[in-house]
Amino acid sequence: MTVELVGQLGDDLAIVNAARVSYGKTVEQISERDIGLIRFLARERHGTPFEHVVFSFRVRTSIAVSREWFRHRIGSFNEISTRYVEFSDDFFLPPLENFRRQVGKPGAYSFEPMDAAESATAREAMRAAYDRAYGAYKELLDMGVAKELARDVLPLGTMTEFVWTVNFRSVTNFLSLRTAPAALLEIQQEARQVEALVKAAVPYAYAAWEEGGRASL
Ligand SMILES: Cc1cc2nc3c(=O)[nH]c(=O)nc-3n(C[C@H](O)[C@H](O)[C@H](O)COP(=O)(O)OP(=O)(O)OC[C@H]3O[C@@H](n4cnc5c(N)ncnc54)[C@H](O)[C@@H]3O)c2cc1C
Repeated sequence: MTVELVGQLGDDLAIVNAARVSYGKTVEQISERDIGLIRFLARERHGTPFEHVVFSFRVRTSIAVSREWFRHRIGSFNEISTRYVEFSDDFFLPPLENFRRQVGKPGAYSFEPMDAAESATAREAMRAAYDRAYGAYKELLDMGVAKELARDVLPLGTMTEFVWTVNFRSVTNFLSLRTAPAALLEIQQEARQVEALVKAAVPYAYAAWEEGGRASL
């Protein structure tokens, strides 16, 4: 599962200038005063200046994770078309330490780690299921069945790829929800990759969001 930053429009300075246009002002370089302004905007939840920084990420992940990701409506998505491209035999196999047991009731689940031997057995069972499904997919293709129909036999662990273009304000909503402990572990791990990339790209805006308790701006 990978997240790559493939494009960026604007930076901390763009946020400052979007805010300062209210007074007909533009600055060329970030000053201490501007950093203070970014913190003020975040603290007071003046979110719109943060929409002037836009990122494009290329994400490779499982269909299961992508379904959760695509629920974030404030952003744009384009995904590989498996009507046109044949799926490879690349499936998401969780690392052994990610195998867990779900205990409790709906709405109050918690997760307990499985021991190493159980995890290894479970992982092998997953691998075998993927092999069977992929075998059936290839068999259908060999029979001449169209890709758009043959793909229906593939599981949620099949890998997909998409481009996500999204502004910083919406990213904070995504990070707030998807790095929280209640989120699916696999999307948490990818959201952490998104977080590292935006932290490097807009360090002052990121710090201001963190300081404010990581709520959506
Ligand atoms: C832990 C967890 C469990 C979840 N469980 C489920 C589940 O069981 N079933 C399920 O269906 N989904 C579930 N979801 C998905 C969740 O309901 C949201 O669809 C998803 O998190 C996207 O959040 P969002 O709407 O804030 O993001 P976006 O769609 O990116 O929207 C960003 C913000 O824009 C505003 N906005 C966007 N569209 C509208 C609108 N139509 N009207 C008003 N304001 C709008 C809101 O302020 C919103 O917060 C879960 C999410 C999480 C994190």
